[in-house]
Amino acid sequence: MSKSLVFASNNAHKLEEVRRILSPREVLSLNDIGFLSDIDETGSTLEENSRIKSWAVYQWLKERGKADIYDIFADDTGLEIEALGGSPGVYTARWAGEPACDANNRKKALAELEGKDNRRARFRTVITLIRDGQEQQVEGQVAGTIATSEAGERGFGYDSLFVPEGYDKTFAQLPAEIKNNISHRANALVALTKIL
Ligand code: IMP
Repeated sequence: MSKSLVFASNNAHKLEEVRRILSPREVLSLNDIGFLSDIDETGSTLEENSRIKSWAVYQWLKERGKADIYDIFADDTGLEIEALGGSPGVYTARWAGEPACDANNRKKALAELEGKDNRRARFRTVITLIRDGQEQQVEGQVAGTIATSEAGERGFGYDSLFVPEGYDKTFAQLPAEIKNNISHRANALVALTKIL
């Protein structure tokens, strides 16, 4: 029998996407299991940060004798802009400074790309799964471009700037079903379901 899944996040937008994509499997959040601390993302790669988050939750559950009843996974996402040499990458959440602010991050993206013809970018998500004390990582990507101005109300983060390849609308304009079919997170979750 498959174990309950814990997603090491309290980000409401991510949780909604993950629950829709993995449905009908139940996905518990950190709040659901009573993990209330912040996890410092001190890694210098998406792989490291994703690993740090899932092991922090595993360790916390282990101290409570509950690590064996769950499969735990965390995701870490970066926006990699070609003309900026792959930046902001692992610094995507705090690109415009602390505290992290999505609106300021989007303004920064527009400012950094002003006058640039090459607006190609990709989102990359790394998921770390821990089951029975063993770690596995999977990745998902989506290629696209950064729009010249914000458009759309849906989604979160950089969604109102990111136009996925093959579409002429941003993730924030497209129906959630489309984003959840083609996104970096969707692709990483498909890879996750193959190893679950
Ligand atoms: P993290 O994976 O929660 O550390 O997110 C890193 C940064 O990427 C944050 O600024 C998020 O808002 C942004 N981000 C993560 N996933 C998405 C997405 O699906 N669309 C747009 N922005 C995202």
